[in-house]
Amino acid sequence: MSALQAPITIVGAGHSGAKAAAALRKHGWTGGIRLIGAEPHLPYDRPPLSKAVLLGKKTSEQCAFYPRSWYAEKEVDLMLGSPVVRIDRERGRLELTDGSDLAYHRLLLATGSTPNPLTLPGADLANIWPLRAPDHANAIAGALQEGRRLVVIGAGVIGLEVAAAAFERGCSVQVLELAPQAMGRSLPAAVSEAVVAEHRRRGIDVRFGVQVVGFDGHDAVEAVRLTTGEILACDAVVYGVGVRPNSDLAAAAGLGAPNGIRTNRYLQTEDERIFACGDVCLYDSERYGQPVRLENWRNAEDQADTVARNLLGENRAFDEVPWFWSNQFDFALQVAGLPALGCRTEVQGIGRSRLFLSSDADGVLRGVSALGAIRDIAAPIKEYKGVLATI
Ligand SMILES: Cc1cc2nc3c(=O)[nH]c(=O)nc-3n(C[C@H](O)[C@H](O)[C@H](O)COP(=O)(O)OP(=O)(O)OC[C@H]3O[C@@H](n4cnc5c(N)ncnc54)[C@H](O)[C@@H]3O)c2cc1C
Repeated sequence: MSALQAPITIVGAGHSGAKAAAALRKHGWTGGIRLIGAEPHLPYDRPPLSKAVLLGKKTSEQCAFYPRSWYAEKEVDLMLGSPVVRIDRERGRLELTDGSDLAYHRLLLATGSTPNPLTLPGADLANIWPLRAPDHANAIAGALQEGRRLVVIGAGVIGLEVAAAAFERGCSVQVLELAPQAMGRSLPAAVSEAVVAEHRRRGIDVRFGVQVVGFDGHDAVEAVRLTTGEILACDAVVYGVGVRPNSDLAAAAGLGAPNGIRTNRYLQTEDERIFACGDVCLYDSERYGQPVRLENWRNAEDQADTVARNLLGENRAFDEVPWFWSNQFDFALQVAGLPALGCRTEVQGIGRSRLFLSSDADGVLRGVSALGAIRDIAAPIKEYKGVLATI
């Protein structure tokens, strides 16, 4: 059997893993596909978990990309609840927690990322959650009842989306951030300030430079303690303090990097049979002249398609212009490029919405952020994404 006729194995039955399986079929692969996932759920879309699911507009079951029958129709051998614990590159085999030992010929690692834990006294009390999976979203949705007090730790995209949903459900909300600005890793201060102003205008208490030292409560959390000695009474806590790439499996097989699974621009690791995509993938970006790792939906989609083609023998370099969105209250935030690489931001108005153009010290445009109504911002952001692709 030639390598191209042998089954292709995907570790990680999440967004990019499932989309890579679909892309393999779309691009003509008729051989076997095995999709192995640690979670028990059918592969699902995460963005609604911090939006529609918290607002009670969608159930987490409705977030699945495809019904179970799709996998049978496409002849994708779906193995759920089966974490892979070891890659034996020499023998070309994978070991699963249940002891199975499976051969692979080409391997795609699409293992995603995991929320950073809170390692503070009292962090194991009930009603303290991160938000990554359906169980988290369902538990948080259950806690967001009129009059409840929610503390959100971390003013990143997920923290602010949870704050917005909680507020809309009638909770009183406090957002605590250690850094001096919201979404500081990805956005310039002017954009962060505009987003935070939307939260404050509605009555959400957003605080910066605030450090949590622990939690009080009997079984469930009742208060958050700060370094200042202040005690904030609450009924629930959600934290979003960054994620770390799930690259330990690859690292143990000698393919790790400090920040993800390192690949070349074809999303291929130094082992020519092993590729990576999605949140875990640290790829060589020609556009930015450095390794880049992105944690967003569009990247999972785009890399899944490119990596599927390359698994089938094409040589497509991946170098898309990054793009992500967030929905909070009735506004959308859309971001193209890497605005954080800029040092100067110019603001333009489009109706009641705003565009923020971020340039570097040489005046080169590095990213564009837009805040406002989707109908105002979608077209200009798409246009600027095209402009950024030519720079
Ligand atoms: C709540 C939430 C809201 C979001 N909202 C937005 C948004 O509005 N806009 C946006 O652009 N992006 C958003 N994102 C980000 C986007 O969803 C992610 O970037 C995307 O899911 C990444 O896809 P992935 O395939 O890399 O990882 P995942 O979808 O996380 O899939 C990885 C899978 O691999 C599995 N796995 C890990 N290790 C193993 C192993 N050893 N064996 C088997 N399986 C393993 C994991 O359990 C997981 O199921 C959001 C993310 C979250 C959590």
